Amino acid sequence: MNQNLLPVMETFYSIQGEGEYQGHAAFFLRLAGCDVGCVWCDVKESWTVSENQYRQIDDIINEIKLNNAKIVVVTGGEPLMYNCSFLTQKLHQAGLRTHLETSGTYPISGDWDWICVSPKKFKKPLESVLQKASELKSCNIS
Ligand code: SF4
Repeated sequence: MNQNLLPVMETFYSIQGEGEYQGHAAFFLRLAGCDVGCVWCDVKESWTVSENQYRQIDDIINEIKLNNAKIVVVTGGEPLMYNCSFLTQKLHQAGLRTHLETSGTYPISGDWDWICVSPKKFKKPLESVLQKASELKSCNIS
């Protein structure tokens, strides 16, 4: 896999609505692809990946800069299905904070300033991810 390409489901600039950074403006980067299979998932359209969703990381960062964002929240889907090392390296080079939202079902890749783990019933988080979590989000039904 080309490390400069990631499948993107959607991007948006908004206010973080939960957790320690609640109320902070952030650019949300929702990667496509998830195999956790939560019954109550409210973004089931993020489960699959199509070829035309792949974007260059430089292209994504140019979009982020247009929004004057300081924090980038990488969410999904399940972002850790992909190696996020190059992404976080490029985000840091651009002077951005890197925040991750994950179910914790894949090993951590990338250099994150904040890691929010939301454990799921159908696929347990890895202990190695839980140990690195900055915060835990309770999610009992999905
Ligand atoms: S981990 Fe998240 S995106 Fe994946 S199925 Fe569960 S709620 Fe949906």
